[in-house]
Amino acid sequence: MLITRRFKHCPSCGAAVSYQVPADDNRERAICPACASVHYENPINVVGTLPIWGEQVLLCRRNIEPRYGFWTLPAGFLELGETSAEGALRETDEEAGAEIELQNLYCLLNVVRVGQIHLYYRARLLSDRFNPGPETIEARLFHEHEVPWDELAFRTVRETLQRYFDDRRAGRDFALHCADIG
Ligand SMILES: [Zn+2]
Repeated sequence: MLITRRFKHCPSCGAAVSYQVPADDNRERAICPACASVHYENPINVVGTLPIWGEQVLLCRRNIEPRYGFWTLPAGFLELGETSAEGALRETDEEAGAEIELQNLYCLLNVVRVGQIHLYYRARLLSDRFNPGPETIEARLFHEHEVPWDELAFRTVRETLQRYFDDRRAGRDFALHCADIG
């Protein structure tokens, strides 16, 4: 079953594409009737961080849709030309203006329904002063009991925070969690 259809028009020539199974394939692809290009769609990487300051975690309140006004960990789409770690650092800088030292990859979450893989790194905050960018209304620190669980923007943010607080309470190492969401 095709889950997402990202292309309406051919990125090469602009003609309207149609979704068909090519002769040597087993999935529908965006095929251009004008230039015969086949455009493949694959999952997108979302990269971000779980920034920690002592007992507190950093969350950002979104100034953009989707989920305007809801709280998120700093995260966004990985860009071409950067590594997952570089993307996570960049998003943390853009959304929170937070200085961090990146630690281990902590959560790898497959969100198959929307064709995304979310990667969250643990990070140590080097300062509790933030300088949020235009995508963020407010960036602030939360103790576990203060986390606005009903106002979190995305399921993967909730899953990452829950795993972190569970690991911390149990005194476990913060080893990588891999999970499939939804
Ligand atoms: Zn075309």
